[in-house]
Amino acid sequence: MLKLPLYLDYNATTPCDPRVMEVMTPYFTENFGNAASRDHSFGWHASEAVQYAREQVAGLIGAVSTEIIFTSGATEADNLALKGVFEMFRSKGNHIITSVVEHKAVLDTCRHLEKLGADVTYLKVNSEGLVDPEELEAAFKPTTILVAIMYANNETGTVMPVKKISAVTRKKGVFFFSDATQAVGKIPIDVNNDGIDLLAFSSHKMYGPKGAGALFLRRKDPRVKLTAQIDGGGHERGIRSGTLNVPGIAGFGKACELCKQEMKQEAKRLSAWRDKLETSLLKLKDTFVNGSTRFRLPHVTNISFNFVESEGLISGIQKDIAVSSGSACSSASREPSYVLKALGVADELARGSIRFSLGRFTTEEQIDFAIVKFIETINQLRTLNPYWKT
Ligand SMILES: *Cc1c(COP(=O)(O)O)cnc(C)c1O
Repeated sequence: MLKLPLYLDYNATTPCDPRVMEVMTPYFTENFGNAASRDHSFGWHASEAVQYAREQVAGLIGAVSTEIIFTSGATEADNLALKGVFEMFRSKGNHIITSVVEHKAVLDTCRHLEKLGADVTYLKVNSEGLVDPEELEAAFKPTTILVAIMYANNETGTVMPVKKISAVTRKKGVFFFSDATQAVGKIPIDVNNDGIDLLAFSSHKMYGPKGAGALFLRRKDPRVKLTAQIDGGGHERGIRSGTLNVPGIAGFGKACELCKQEMKQEAKRLSAWRDKLETSLLKLKDTFVNGSTRFRLPHVTNISFNFVESEGLISGIQKDIAVSSGSACSSASREPSYVLKALGVADELARGSIRFSLGRFTTEEQIDFAIVKFIETINQLRTLNPYWKT
């Protein structure tokens, strides 16, 4: 029997993998030491666990362990990257280039920096949700110190042309920072191949615990420098002070190892089910996919149903299926998603959009159930809509 409600909102957060939980448990109890305690074995054990995790985390993105700074999550890593580089280099320049479809953790940090004197360019995207590398190049100024473009979008799953972006940033000699929270662990990422200098990601989006994340900082060619935003005991090479979340970090490390091992087969399985879900729902009239279908994460689809309000749709199905309208972070507001607006999606279609995100514990039975349930609910809602004509 299918257990309800079933979860198709893995882009918002993921459950902890039981294999991750198993690794974490002893660090709450018998191995509770402070990783910064140098004088006894409690500290040494904790510090070894952190070092082991640092290697697992680095290994997933092709980095070396000394390039990983542990944080509380991607929001903190985004803040550290943007504010830290701005503070370090503001005497050289104050210009940052980003895009209109970034996560709020990047956009709101940029807004904050504007108040402190930053000059921020927000690149538009095309109807597929992609930044144009030529527009990026044209946006450079002598004062540009950082380019911040996400790896994959949280609402649509669209994957940015990262290598083309880094070709530009390398040519210009400017750091490239990417918020890769939705992409790490889901598609292969190699910071060297991809030409990325700073990369933010989060444990709870990849079957690790909440409250752990990382910022990759390139150590050479070029060496990235930034100013710490949390001062104190000098943890994480003075870049992020504060007692390390040892259980969280140990779990994050295990989560990275599992993603590395299982990514390929998981992507294959989930993209087949995502495609099945998408094709079945697209058989309904006036139904459209948002974002790129060529450059996309394997487990995500964002679909607009015309003549249906996503709120009505979601309240109709939420006792059975957990999905999201727009991004979870903005779902408190009734405004249509700024990401879909940036793609040129009309307001009434943006209002009827649903993000489906599949994950490790999704089954084909769940997908089959979701297909039937959505078709039934949409047909019902449309018959109630006076504008709908069959
Ligand atoms: C979830 C998410 C974040 C925030 O991550 P937290 O670890 O929850 O702070 C940032 N950027 C993107 C793209 C996300 O999807």
